[in-house]
Amino acid sequence: MMDKPYNKAEADFFITVLKEEAREILWKVGSDADPRQLIDGILDELVSLAPGPEGEDDRNEEQVWTQVRERLLKAAYATRPYCIRCGTCCTEGSPTLVGEDMVLFARDIVKPEHVFTIRQGEIVYDNRTQQATTAAHESIKIREGLERKTCVFYEEGGKKCTIYEYRPQQCRRQECWNPETSTAGSERPLTRQDLFQSVEDLWSVMQRHEDKCSHAELSRCMARLGATHGRTVEEVLELLRYDRHVREFMADRLGLPFQTMELFFGRPLSETIEAYGLRVEEQPGGGFLLIPVEEDKEVR
Ligand code: SF4
Repeated sequence: MMDKPYNKAEADFFITVLKEEAREILWKVGSDADPRQLIDGILDELVSLAPGPEGEDDRNEEQVWTQVRERLLKAAYATRPYCIRCGTCCTEGSPTLVGEDMVLFARDIVKPEHVFTIRQGEIVYDNRTQQATTAAHESIKIREGLERKTCVFYEEGGKKCTIYEYRPQQCRRQECWNPETSTAGSERPLTRQDLFQSVEDLWSVMQRHEDKCSHAELSRCMARLGATHGRTVEEVLELLRYDRHVREFMADRLGLPFQTMELFFGRPLSETIEAYGLRVEEQPGGGFLLIPVEEDKEVR
């Protein structure tokens, strides 16, 4: 991109390059608007993004083009302000359910095998900040593929959401054409209490599990394990054993696959403990070995 001010030849070149960018961006967002009209509509803003005189602008060329593309993208989305079911959001992460989504369970559209619970205090990866963070509250989330972040309800081959008419609220509120809107909303996330409090037996098992195996308790045990140089490993193993036992017992009693227990009891502690730099190796007799991920040395 050239410095301001520029001559006619440079301006023509600038417009040609912008047109190519605009064409590609319009294609990506599924708009059939004319690239030249898109540029003309925001030309003053685009020109203002061009680099200033040497020494007076600390952006490099890549940063300038990033800003130009962002502006073009916003303008491109404004030409088609509605969902065209392109599936882009469905391949970049699955929705978290809110209170209004409870009806999806009652109608059997969402089943236990489609979701998992993130329990309060669990260390999770935040897509937005791209950093590990501690879950401030409990939430229930639609599952994603193992390799990619594609929602389980998205059918890649047919490029469609298989429950589109009944899709969760977060999907309905997501406006990709308006990047400034947030799907966070003020609505309280759906919790296990909303779903299961009325099922007395199950709810009391879930509460006992939470009392004994909360992420706060895991965090405390891990802090003690570090402070005692591994001497308190037995209390961590006891948590793992109890967590595993409850899941196996309830899966058997409810006649549901083991994986569905992730709705009732969250992700197994044998997996979430990896956030503390340990991996769990299961022993033939049902015991566990804790192995520091980096050093791969056993802690017994
Ligand atoms: S529920 Fe449907 S619309 Fe929502 S992310 Fe999954 S596939 Fe996409």
